[in-house]
Amino acid sequence: MILDIVKNHGPITGEHIAERLSLSRATLRPDLAILTMSGFLDARPRVGYFYSGKDGNRLIKEEIERKCVKDYKAQPIIIKESNSVYDGICTLFLEDVGTLFVVNNSGHLAGVVSRKDLLRAALGNKNLEDIPISIIMTRMPNIVTCTLEESLLEAARKLIHNQIDSLPVVKPVSFNGKTAYEVVGRVTKTTITKGYVELGNEVTV
Ligand code: ADP
Repeated sequence: MILDIVKNHGPITGEHIAERLSLSRATLRPDLAILTMSGFLDARPRVGYFYSGKDGNRLIKEEIERKCVKDYKAQPIIIKESNSVYDGICTLFLEDVGTLFVVNNSGHLAGVVSRKDLLRAALGNKNLEDIPISIIMTRMPNIVTCTLEESLLEAARKLIHNQIDSLPVVKPVSFNGKTAYEVVGRVTKTTITKGYVELGNEVTV
C-alpha cells in the first residue's frame, strides 16, 4: 500500500503517507526504512519519498553485480614449473583442492593443472617423479584468468563458458618489458556457490 501511495502521489512526506493510511508516523517509520534500504523508495530530505522505479528483479541483479572477486577469492595453491607430476599429486591431496596454479622461476603464472590432467599423466606412467609438471599443464597464454576488481558474476560466466572448475585471480605486472601475472587468489565453483548462498540469505526484496 505504501508503494502504491508513493507511486501515485510522490514525492510525498512520511507524514502524508501515514495520514492516508490512518496510521501514526512512528508506526510507519520501520516500513519506510525497509523500503528505502532495499531500494524501492528514494528519500530526499524536506521533499519526501519517491518511487525508485526499480522492481525486485532489477534490485537482485544489482545485488549480484555488486559481488566482487576480491571479497570472495580463496588462497591460490601454487606449484613451481620445475616440480614433478608426483609433487603435483601430493600437493593436490594435501591442500585438498582440484586445481593447481603453476608459476615460473620469476613467480609469475605459467600454467594450470587440473586433477584430470594429473590422473591422465599417472595412467601408464610409472616414474611420476621424473615428469615435470610443465609438460602436462595447460600453459599461458591459454589460461583463463580474472582480476580482483571483476564481479563474481563475470568470473562465473568464464567458468561456465570455458567448462573449467577454477580461475587464477591475477595482478598484471610489468616484467622485462612484457606483461606478466602474479597469482593473488583462486575462484572456483565453491567460491561462486558461497556467493550464491550469501545472496539467498541476504536478499530481502
Ligand atoms: P578437470 O580436468 O579435473 O575436470 P577442469 O574442468 O577445471 O578440471 O579442467 C579441464 C581442462 O582445462 C584441464 O586440462 C585444465 O588444465 C584446463 N584448465 C583448468 N582451468 C583452466 C583455466 N583457468 N584456464 C585454462 N585452462 C584451464
